[in-house]
Amino acid sequence: MKRISVFCGSSSGVDKIFAEQACLLGKTLAQGNIGLVYGGSNIGLMRELANAVLEYHGEVIGVMPHFMKEKELAHKNLTCLEVVNTMQERKSRMCELSDGAIALPGGYGTLDELFELLTWGQLGLHRKPVAILNTGGYYNHLLSFIQTMADKGFVHEANKAMLLTHDDIDTLLDLMLTYQAPEISKWEKHGIK
Ligand code: AMP
Repeated sequence: MKRISVFCGSSSGVDKIFAEQACLLGKTLAQGNIGLVYGGSNIGLMRELANAVLEYHGEVIGVMPHFMKEKELAHKNLTCLEVVNTMQERKSRMCELSDGAIALPGGYGTLDELFELLTWGQLGLHRKPVAILNTGGYYNHLLSFIQTMADKGFVHEANKAMLLTHDDIDTLLDLMLTYQAPEISKWEKHGIK
């Protein structure tokens, strides 16, 4: 994997383990020669992550819409900051630039980005791994709800398995490296090719 997109909180959360793990992920990416693609901001976990990659001399590409840059949210020391027109364009561009995506703990914005990429994956619009770093069990309730969606017949088992998850960074990266996208698209399951 040449580059990974990371979605994470524009806040840092109440527990210091969230920032610690964001920094550790940044260091691991830089030392593994994997570039970071992220939202380009200089706040919350996003800043912790970007600064850790930069500290270890890794590549950081920020992708930010104009309106956020105008609010001076942009990180000033990135390898490259791409400015786009809309939030939708930002997600597409981040997906194009990277070979997979990881969500760290975050709020609505993080979940929006995570589920958009999962949705695109289940529609066969990309075949890249999408993963959750489940720091401190932050995503346990979400993962159990996804199991409910599968149990109740709203998410196909193969599509449930598309979402990779672990609380250990190296293990998660290994899962992403060996990921094979499901062959059956959401449509074929309904008999539509
Ligand atoms: P949230 O999880 O709600 O804090 O939102 C964080 C995610 O949404 C990040 O991955 C960003 O791409 C995007 N986002 C939301 N708020 C901001 C912000 N103030 N600055 C930059 N990106 C943001």
